[in-house]
Amino acid sequence: MSVTLRFAPSPTGRLHPGNARTALFNWFFARRHNGGYILRFDDTDQARSTAEFATGIEEDLAWLGIHADRVERQSSRLALYADAAESLKAAGRLYPCYESAEELERQRKRRLARGLPPVYDRRALKLTQEERAALEAQGRRPHWRFLLPNFSADPFAPERTETSWDDVFRGAQSVDLASLSDPVLVREDGSFLYTLPSVVDDRDMGVSHVIRGDDHVTNTGVQLALFAALGAEAPAFGHHNLLQTEAGEGFSKRYEALSLAALRREGVEALALAAYASLVGTSEAVRPVTCLDELAMLFDPKKVNRAAARFSVGELKALSARTLAQLSYEAVAERLREAKVGGGEAFWLAVRGNIDKLADAALWWRVASGPVEPVVAEEDRDFLARAAELLPEEPWDENTWGEWTDTLKAQTGRRGKALFMPLRRALTGFSAGPELRALLPFVGRPNTMARLCAPCRD
Ligand code: GLU
Repeated sequence: MSVTLRFAPSPTGRLHPGNARTALFNWFFARRHNGGYILRFDDTDQARSTAEFATGIEEDLAWLGIHADRVERQSSRLALYADAAESLKAAGRLYPCYESAEELERQRKRRLARGLPPVYDRRALKLTQEERAALEAQGRRPHWRFLLPNFSADPFAPERTETSWDDVFRGAQSVDLASLSDPVLVREDGSFLYTLPSVVDDRDMGVSHVIRGDDHVTNTGVQLALFAALGAEAPAFGHHNLLQTEAGEGFSKRYEALSLAALRREGVEALALAAYASLVGTSEAVRPVTCLDELAMLFDPKKVNRAAARFSVGELKALSARTLAQLSYEAVAERLREAKVGGGEAFWLAVRGNIDKLADAALWWRVASGPVEPVVAEEDRDFLARAAELLPEEPWDENTWGEWTDTLKAQTGRRGKALFMPLRRALTGFSAGPELRALLPFVGRPNTMARLCAPCRD
């Protein structure tokens, strides 16, 4: 059987790290099995879905390094869902209901008060043709419920009916269909809820594995019954644990500041986001990687925890810095060029271990190439003048700094911080940064001289 995965976001906002986890797990599974990858926009909710969000989500995925073989939109497949709904109606599996939300709420409360489970009691199934016609004559429009196969002969006497599957992540799983209300598949206005379209799409698009968050476990019980009702073979299902914000809340597209787009703007590396979003909450250590395929190789659904995992922006940013520290020049060369960072590979190797984000490389390149506002304390002036006198002639390499500061130490008696800090502040204008041993050759003798001597000219 060929392997086909799909990632199915609704385009009602930009992707957040929790969505990225699902997108990545699907991607890793596809990569590991040479499978296809479909990006499917679940955009039947036309009031909340927008083309801009869909474009934004494609951008988010491209940034992560995920490239779908195919893009599908539910909004262009509505006629197919209507066909499926008609066939369910013809088979007596989709029935019209006329209760308002208030009526349903009253029924629910009454059942709870009588110690009964708050599931829909199928009273609309009892309506005669005439009663339906009378309700419609009053202007009521039906919503449509799927008759769950949880009874032998009498739908009003549901029996425990375990629907089971071997979950890709969680192993043996089952949902008792008698514990659920018949799900509404079609709203009063004729629009579809996500449940049926998803099944129709998975069937038509040859999806072999549905990998999604564990908030969908119950849906899977219903959807397995729908596959059977449509006479279709069901795919395998896998449910992974969800990510939570630091406040312990579920991620939501409403948290703009935690969107991939916002994190990216803050300078978070895509690889770090991918590593963190896919390794946190698993038995693998969260660690920096050099490419997405490395994460695909680490992916093992059986190593994913059951409990929700906390996603800390602070840990993500720290991982992002560690990710940069081991990225090769080839991996970042184009972005460095765009950021106008010179110095080639040598400069990248000199600074990568000391930056929080790639944009900082541009800062240190500006520091190396100048101009710089040296920071000089009054008491260091003579020391810096001496440093200028002892500055070696070029050519310089990474040993120059050591030779120069050894001589300075011997000549001035200064050591440690008293030796290095005035030099760092004069040469860079900052108290911290990349190792000067590495940076010095890029500053060059004329710039170094000018910075050391700036105070002499005051
Ligand atoms: N649009 C659904 C969601 O974002 C897709 C669930 C699924 O993968 O089936 O939750």
